[in-house]
Amino acid sequence: MTLKAFKVRLYPNQKQIKQIKQTFGSTRFVWNQMLAMQSARHKNNSHARYQNEFAMNNLLKALKTDYPWLKDVDATALQATNGNLHDAFQRFFNKELSNGYPRFKSKKDYAQSYTSKAVNQNIKVIDDHHLKLPKLGQVYFRAGRILTGKVRRATVRINSQGQYYATILIEGEKQALKPKTKQSVGIDLGLDSLMILSNGQKVNMVHFDTDARKQIRVWERKMARRRRNALKEIAFDKHDKVLFPRTSLRQFPRYQQARRTVAKLKRQVSDRRNDKLQKLTTQLVQDFDVIVVEKLNTQGMLKNHHLARAISNAGWGNLVTMLQYKCDWYGKQLIFVDPKYTSRICSVCGQKNHQFDGLSQHEWLAVREWQCPTCGTHLDRDINASQNILQRGLAQITPIKALV
Ligand SMILES: [Zn+2]
Repeated sequence: MTLKAFKVRLYPNQKQIKQIKQTFGSTRFVWNQMLAMQSARHKNNSHARYQNEFAMNNLLKALKTDYPWLKDVDATALQATNGNLHDAFQRFFNKELSNGYPRFKSKKDYAQSYTSKAVNQNIKVIDDHHLKLPKLGQVYFRAGRILTGKVRRATVRINSQGQYYATILIEGEKQALKPKTKQSVGIDLGLDSLMILSNGQKVNMVHFDTDARKQIRVWERKMARRRRNALKEIAFDKHDKVLFPRTSLRQFPRYQQARRTVAKLKRQVSDRRNDKLQKLTTQLVQDFDVIVVEKLNTQGMLKNHHLARAISNAGWGNLVTMLQYKCDWYGKQLIFVDPKYTSRICSVCGQKNHQFDGLSQHEWLAVREWQCPTCGTHLDRDINASQNILQRGLAQITPIKALV
C-alpha cells in the first residue's frame, strides 16, 4: 500500500465557510489546551510522563464535556489535531527536522487548517467537482487531476490570500509503471548545485528565482512600513479616545494589499520550485532502481547561515520527501547513509585525506578539487562525495559484495 496526495481548490458556500472557520477555531483550541496541559505537567513535575496521542484522545472526551461546543465540529478533526501535536512532540524529542518545542496557534495566523480522518465514507470524491466532507456536505472544487482510490484523510486549508484548498490523501496499490533499469545512483547535496549525482551530473536550481526574491523583498519592506504606520494609527486612535477607534490591522486595506501581494509572490516561487522538484524526482525514479542520499542533520546545518540559505532555497527536505513517496509508489529503493567524511575519503582507494584535518570550516568549503595523496587520483569534491554515498548505500544492501 502506498499513499498519494492531490490538492484541489475548494469553493465553499457561506454556510460551509462558517462551519470551516468554526472547525479551525475548535482544532486550534484543542491544540492549545493539549499543549498547555503537556507543558504544565512537565513544569509541575519534571518526571511526569509525556501524554501520547492515545492519552490525549482520552482527555479530549473530558474537554468535550467542559466545552460542549466542541461537539459541533467534525470529531475526527479534533483527534487528528492530537495526532499532529503528537508528531510535533516526537520531532522535537528526536531532534529531527524540528522547529523546536511545539508552539501555540493563534487566531491571528492568516493561514489555518484542519484534517479530517476518513471513517465510514465520511470523505468521498463524488465526481469531478464535488467532494463530500464531514459536517460540510458536498463542497464544490476544481482540480487539475483527480486520483482515485480509498480516501484516508483530507486537510482543509485557508491560505493567507483567503483561498480554500483541500489536500486529499488516498491509498493505492503499488504501481510498476517505471520499469527496472538496474542502475543505482548516489546523490550529494552541494553548495553551488542543488545536487551532484555519482555519474557526474550536476543539477542546479539554487538561483533560479533571484528575480522573484528581489520583488518579494520590495513588497516585504512595503508591508513592514504599512504595518508600522497602521500600528501607529491604532495607538493614536486609542490615545485620542476617538469615537470609533481602529483596533485591528484588518481595518487597513493598504497593509492588507501588501500582505496579500507578499503571500502571492511567495506562493508563486514555491509553486515553481515545487514543480521543478516534481519533475526532477520523477526523472530520478525513472532512471534509477536504487537511490542513495545522505541523512541530513538539518538542525545542525541551519546554524550555518550561508548553507542554510542554499538548503531552504533548494528545498532539500521537500526533495527527500518526494523521493521517498515516489520510490514507495513505483517500487524503487531509497537508502539513507551517514555522510560523515564522504567528501574527505577518496572514492577510488578508500583512504581518508588527512591534509584537510587542520582547515577551518570556511577554508574547507573552498576546496573544490583535490588529489588523493595515497593513490594519486584527481577528484572533484562533490562528485567524489556522491560516489562515496553510493558505495555506502550499496554496502548496506549487499554487505558481502562490499568486502570484495
Ligand atoms: Zn585514493
